[in-house]
This record gives sequence, structure tokens and C-alpha cells, in this order.
Amino acid sequence: MNPAVTDIYQSLGVARRINAAGTLTRLGGNLMEPEVLQAMVQAATASVDMAELQTAASKVIARVTGAEAGIVTSGAAAGLTLATAACLARWDVARMAALPDTRGMPNEVLMVRTQRNSYDHAIRLAGARIVDIGHNDRGTGAGIRGLEPWEITTAITPQTVAMVFVATAQTVHELPAVLQVVHAHGLPVIVDAAAQLPPRGNLQRFIAAGADLVVFSGGKAIGGPQASGILVGRRDLIGSALLQMMDMDVNPTSWSPSALVDRAALSGVPHHGIGRGFKVGKEEIAGLVCALERFFVRDEVASAQALTARLQAIAAALETQPGITTRLVTGTELAPIPLLEIDAGAGAAALVERLLRGDPPVHVGERLVESGILTINPQTLRCEDDSVLMRCLIESCRSDA
Ligand SMILES: *Cc1c(COP(=O)(O)O)cnc(C)c1O
Repeated sequence: MNPAVTDIYQSLGVARRINAAGTLTRLGGNLMEPEVLQAMVQAATASVDMAELQTAASKVIARVTGAEAGIVTSGAAAGLTLATAACLARWDVARMAALPDTRGMPNEVLMVRTQRNSYDHAIRLAGARIVDIGHNDRGTGAGIRGLEPWEITTAITPQTVAMVFVATAQTVHELPAVLQVVHAHGLPVIVDAAAQLPPRGNLQRFIAAGADLVVFSGGKAIGGPQASGILVGRRDLIGSALLQMMDMDVNPTSWSPSALVDRAALSGVPHHGIGRGFKVGKEEIAGLVCALERFFVRDEVASAQALTARLQAIAAALETQPGITTRLVTGTELAPIPLLEIDAGAGAAALVERLLRGDPPVHVGERLVESGILTINPQTLRCEDDSVLMRCLIESCRSDA
């Protein structure tokens, strides 16, 4: 346990929680390794040129992802806004200055109806209007057909600036066809892959498939600072995104932009852009880069095995409780994190409540709770918390009476 961390929460009177629900943002995302913390501490103690730091980070991000370039953002959601802003404004300084007001410029972003989600707000924030395409037969169970190329072609107009594709294990097989159709019209595809890690192969997968821009969350599996993410992809679009995020309180005559910025393409020096409110600090950039390099070389098979062994021990302890059965869901290639499902039947919702009211409060995955199942996700569960979790689970099961 890191004593300093406990102390700050204690002194603020904020309860430490056992997080067996995964890298949820509202519970603080992932936990950082000491090496990542150390990188942030070092970064905090010196002045640097932020454009130079982002340019250096881009080299690391490009090497790890296979993309032409990449920047550290203040999260995947911020990355979506910046990606959209890049597609709206490109190198047009007047458009950068106008966003989120997109009157008089093409502003439509296509999305598959079944992929719409809460993070769409980040796309609209840049000033884009989302145009839904396709139908919802699979979502409603009314039919078997998914997205078809003609549905994209029909929706593309002179107002279209990009298509956003939300990558999941269920949608990813549709990406090649989307890329083919959208690229045939000379337009970029933005992939939201915020939570599609591990497997680490996904860092390169969407870029290798031809995506123009991809966002990943830094505070989820990568294990970077909670308020970080990466936006990777085409050099020109990344440069535009960076420019719209950087602080632009500069002297136009002495301004030295990042090497990612095509100075010749700009008709002037932009003001603060739409992304100025999403600034990342030197600490986040340093921490993210460190975490990303560590994530990239981690032995994922060994990590999954270690997590599985811990879940098995928790399962063995729980199986002694009457009325409780467990099921280990081993990871797959596309989703390598193992999970433990606890079948608590009709008492599942009440069990969740008791766990949350306990000391310490325990959070479990609630996605299947209506089917009577609680999920233990070990990603953010510290080893030393396993025994506490077992005690809390057993006590909460017993107080069922
Ligand atoms: C978590 C998530 C985001 C937002 O990521 P942040 O890094 O928290 O901003 C965006 N899209 C999807 C699909 C996500 O799961």
C-alpha cells in the first residue's frame, strides 16, 4: 500500500473503496504503478516547452501504435472532440477560431445508429452534427442484418466531414467495409477504441486497418494518469488537433510551433482553440508515455493467468456460502481480462447495496445484476484487497437472512 495515498484521502475524510468493478472513471479509473508516478513527479519539477514535449510524446506513441503521429489528450472523450475538430477545421485558421460554431462549413459526422452512446456528446461539442445511418435490426432483435455499404454511400454529402466508428468485439468486423466506402469519398474515419485494451494488439490494429484517427483512454487499461488518453493517426489531422489544444498565448513573430504543425498551410497564427479547455499537463504527458511503454511490453498471458488464480481463490471462498454459485469467465483473445460471475439469484440487487454500504465500501460489476449476477473484475483490485473483498462478500451474503 502506498501510505501517502491513504493519508491524503484520510485527511480529506474520503473513504477508500474496494473496486472490483473495473476501470470505471467514476471510481477513479485504473491505479498507477510506482514507475508511472515517478515519471509524473520528475515532470512536475522542471519547465519545458509543451509543444516540444507533445512532439516527443508523439514519437513514442507512433512507435507503439504504428501511426504516423499521436498526442496525449486529457482522455478519450477529449480525444473525440479534438479528432472531430481536426476533421472540421483541418488547417483553416478561421474555422479553428469559429468552432463550435460551424455555420457555413461542412459539419456532418456519420455514425451507425446502433453505435450511438453517451460519449457522442464529445463529438457534438466540436460543433458537428451527427447523422445516424443504418437500422437497428440487430439491436432490437428484429432481424440479422448489420450495416451495409450502400447505407454509408447514401448518407455522404458535401456536408460530410468524417465518420465515427465505435470499435467493440461485436462491431470490429464491420470496420474494413466502413473504411473502404468512406475513404473512397476522400473522408476520414475516427475510431473510438477508448476501452478496447487489452489486448495490446489493438493499439496497432485499427491503424493497421487504415483508420485515420483512433482514441484510447489512458486511465483505463493502459494505467496512465486518470485524466489522460491518446489520439493517434494521420500526421496532418493530429497536427490540427494538437494546434487546437495548445495554449496559443504566443508572440506571432517568435512562435515556434510543434514539428507536427504545417506552418505553411496556416494563413495565420490561431488563437486558443476548442481544445484549450482540455489541456494536459506535463505530468500527464510524462505519466502516459511511461505507462504506455510499460503496457506495450507487459506479458499479457502471464498477467491474465495471475488474475485468474486470484479469482479462483475468491471463488473457492465464496462457494462455501449457501445459495451462492460462481462461474469463472476466462478471457478471450479479444477481451483477455478474466471475470468472476457470482450468481446471487433474486438477492443480487440487495447484495450490491449491502456491499456498497459496507466498511470498506465494495463496488462490483452491476451490468448483469437484473439476471441475478454480480461480476468481479480484478483489473483495479489490488492484491492486498483480495482478502478484504472475500470478507466483505461473505459477510454481505450472510447478512442476507
Ligand atoms: C471510457 C470511454 C470513453 C471516454 O474515455 P475517457 O478517457 O474517460 O475520456 C469514450 N468512449 C468509450 C467507448 C469509452 O468506453
